Amino acid sequence: MDQLYQYYLRYRRVITDSRKVEPGAIYFALKGANFDGNDFVSAALTAGCSLAVTDRPELNGTDGTYFVPDVLEALQKLASMHRERTGIKIVAITGSNGKTTTKELIAAVLSTGMKVWYTQGNLNNHIGVPLTILAMPEDTDLLVLEMGANHPGEIKFLSELARPDYGLITNIGKAHLEGFGSFEGVKKAKAELYDFLAANGGKAFLNRDNKVLGSVIGSCPVALGYGKDADVIAADAVADPFLSFTWQRDEVSYKVRTKLTGIYNLENALAAITIGLFFGISPENINRALEAYMPANHRSQMVETNRNRVVLDAYNANPSSMKVALDNFLAMKGEGKLIILGGMKELGAESRSEHQVLVDRLRNEFSGECYLVGSEFEALGPIPHQWIHFSSTESLLGHLKKNAPENKLILLKGSRSNCLELAMQYL
Ligand code: ATP
Ligand code: MG
Repeated sequence: MDQLYQYYLRYRRVITDSRKVEPGAIYFALKGANFDGNDFVSAALTAGCSLAVTDRPELNGTDGTYFVPDVLEALQKLASMHRERTGIKIVAITGSNGKTTTKELIAAVLSTGMKVWYTQGNLNNHIGVPLTILAMPEDTDLLVLEMGANHPGEIKFLSELARPDYGLITNIGKAHLEGFGSFEGVKKAKAELYDFLAANGGKAFLNRDNKVLGSVIGSCPVALGYGKDADVIAADAVADPFLSFTWQRDEVSYKVRTKLTGIYNLENALAAITIGLFFGISPENINRALEAYMPANHRSQMVETNRNRVVLDAYNANPSSMKVALDNFLAMKGEGKLIILGGMKELGAESRSEHQVLVDRLRNEFSGECYLVGSEFEALGPIPHQWIHFSSTESLLGHLKKNAPENKLILLKGSRSNCLELAMQYL
């Protein structure tokens, strides 16, 4: 591994997709569900990679290759080694909802005063975390790492790989119930980050208003807390459509107006404020960064089209994020509301009951039009006459093409695989 590390230090660039070669990069031949990166070793070298890391015995000793018993393990070990040798400080973020948004807000805040490297997009798994560490520029002061999981043990594994000094669990909700088995399973799995910090001299940032987090924090020390009665205090939050609130630290108050829709983003913004203060960012810079932050990638966006106003939150959905998105949308002022929802995936045995809860709530609290997309909504009995059930996003698109809504306030939300953002072309 030492030799591989020396190569890495010379070239500094690591890639895993042989089609995206950067001259001089080291290519790691990973295996996916449908491909084996070892098949592209010679293509990567021809395209200009300086080295290809392979675990195919026939390639052992061939020009330009570095043979290891397991490429994925080598990538992970290399990242761990780099993390240890640089001694970089790391803040890890996990949780059921809001990881990426919170990570982006933290990075925006911290970047006003230090060199921050952070997870690009959603590269938060056993491959993305090592790649993020290895992509860190040399002059980085602090690394902000998003860690995702849909099975027990994954956060423990990623924590041991990255060895964070600080950690944040955004919240613990009903997400990936299939992989975690139950809500209790989700709690235990997310708390693996607190367990790691407690056992290794780390500290957490804690939402003091969140009882579930309080119930699993155990002996993990808290660096700073936020909430109604904490180190960083929030008040007067409204989101119609954009989130604004005041926050207070040491009896001085500040007002912030963000460009995020959804009151649920309050806790994401508070986490960023708290972490910013901890690392010495001034309140003025914190507020400037939060006010400038523009959500993208179909998360918490308020989009004004030529015809409608759309709450575009189609990046993902699970029972917890669906609930807060509806809390927010139902409370918004506006005529002619239309709700377009895609099914929630990965809920296993709880799928039917969770969709039932959703539909029952809408039936009771919403009298407008509602389009439900996907087989998850099929077996739930008759729906009100002004609602339409579509078997797929394709059939929704067919309908919208002929009946494009106008002058509506629209919520667009569903699990990733629904790709509901495709509807934007007709909204
Ligand atoms: P993933 O598991 O896909 O990586 P994530 O945890 O990174 O998701 P984001 O991408 O930031 O989460 O947000 C996804 C969706 O979750 C948002 O569009 C929003 O609907 C919802 N969401 C964001 N923040 C919160 C929050 N604090 N509480 C509940 N729901 C939230
Ligand atoms: Mg994410």
